[in-house]
Amino acid sequence: MNDRQRLTQHAITPKKSLGQNFLHDPNALEKIAESADLPPDATVLEIGPGTGNLTHVLARHAARVIAVEIDDRLIPLLESEFAAIPAVQIVHADILKCPVTDFVGTEPYYVVANLPYYITSAILRHVLESVPRPVRLVITVQREVAERIVAEPDDMSLLAVSVQFYGQPQIVTHLNAGAFWPRPDVESAVMRIDVYPTPPVDVPDERQFFRVVRAGFGQKRKQLRNAISAGLSIPKDQTDALLTGAGIDPRRRAETLTLDEWAILTRAAALPETQP
Ligand code: SAM
Repeated sequence: MNDRQRLTQHAITPKKSLGQNFLHDPNALEKIAESADLPPDATVLEIGPGTGNLTHVLARHAARVIAVEIDDRLIPLLESEFAAIPAVQIVHADILKCPVTDFVGTEPYYVVANLPYYITSAILRHVLESVPRPVRLVITVQREVAERIVAEPDDMSLLAVSVQFYGQPQIVTHLNAGAFWPRPDVESAVMRIDVYPTPPVDVPDERQFFRVVRAGFGQKRKQLRNAISAGLSIPKDQTDALLTGAGIDPRRRAETLTLDEWAILTRAAALPETQP
């Protein structure tokens, strides 16, 4: 039975507002699971199992799959689908509402998911800031978002810095809209993010690093001297001195900075803990 038939049987219509585009291409599903390089004893957190297409494939690759789905209409369907597969645990929850460790505990885990695109950035932040972080993520996202995440200096964004601070992202493959039902309006890409045991740059404190980065990207396409001055409430002449002291031309834009330069700037700024 395909997705359309199964949903019709349960009188369910896909909800666009929950990003419900179900991936039915068997080659794509297998490629996603293989790209996660899961050890046989792996615990996988799947965000948004939908009708369970990817969940079935993951259950063949991992010891344990914890599938967290927000849509209460899909829970009975998933529970009956996986009743005979004890490796799969269906959880009815909003992934953003509780710490990831509430679902997976403190053992090493992997995140594999065809993400609901409307909350891609929020989920990435939620997962990458969790403690402990996953070993690796393999996620399907909008193609344009995947390209932004793997960007290099000159085209960096807050999203690219936020992901690259925690892990090494790569695009595994592209998926066209026909691989999904209903067809999304956008192209998709499968990404693999190998999470670093420790961040690749030396910063005194992650919160300070992101305070500086957010300030830098706070004013789109503005010179750093203006963005940092406004974002960190530092007078312009002091901002110029700070940037120059960090070896960064104050006229540069945030998009051009490397991760290392953001770290140098964070250390130079030495923000007090209490500053918002
Ligand atoms: N994994 C399925 C597949 O590949 O066919 C479905 C993927 S579909 C793109 C995204 C799924 O995420 C939907 O089932 C949707 O209901 C679910 N979802 C949306 N927001 C969620 C949230 N905040 N927490 C958990 N699941 C969510």
